[in-house]
Amino acid sequence: MAKKAKKTKETIEIKETGKCCFCDKVYENSGHNTVGYWKEEEEKKGYGKLKRCCDECYETKLLPALKEKFLKTEFFILSWEAAVQQRNEGQKLFKDGISDDDKYEFKRKLFEKTETILNDYENNSVKADVHHGNLLEIQGVFKDYKEKIFGDNSYAFNFSTAQKYFNMMCKYYWCAGFIEEPPELPIDSINLAKIGRKDEKWTKKIKEIPNYEEMIMNFRSNESVLNEGSLAVWELKNWKRRGD
Ligand SMILES: [Zn+2]
Repeated sequence: MAKKAKKTKETIEIKETGKCCFCDKVYENSGHNTVGYWKEEEEKKGYGKLKRCCDECYETKLLPALKEKFLKTEFFILSWEAAVQQRNEGQKLFKDGISDDDKYEFKRKLFEKTETILNDYENNSVKADVHHGNLLEIQGVFKDYKEKIFGDNSYAFNFSTAQKYFNMMCKYYWCAGFIEEPPELPIDSINLAKIGRKDEKWTKKIKEIPNYEEMIMNFRSNESVLNEGSLAVWELKNWKRRGD
């Protein structure tokens, strides 16, 4: 018969109490680290050490914030790619020899500006004229980087690029429940074809905001859009991927 195993030492449960960095409540277990919510440097700078939070704030604040951050970053990448894939033949986006760091700096600026603007869409049905002003602000971010990364021949300042990018962001954020219904839709060749406008050179035609406004009027006066009553909902129902 095997020897009876020696009784192991009683396991000591490690406890570390502290104050939750969100709600100030004292947690009785070791809490949860908040990596990803703040940047490590920010935590150390503002707090002296890494922050921790209680169980409740982990569920109600930390996890939802991390999930939202992930989705928003993905939405940015997808919207950016949708906007820049619409180039016409021979058109360049960046100047030759632009580093990834410079491209990243521009994208960070664009994302930050977008986030600031989209705060107003969170609990509001934004009106078309305000939306158009916002589209111009987005186009302005592209124009600010003209010298540095784009150059004169880039199609980046074409209003079409800004409207596709920002309206895609609105669509994703709306679908995920981050904002209220946006007033318009990302204009592209697929939805233009749906209102009977098959125009290969449409990106060239939406050079500035008056061209965009005219296109939007074409959508609004289309019978199927009129029947739906909402551009965003109409587009969602008629959405189709290229090649589907
Ligand atoms: Zn807490």
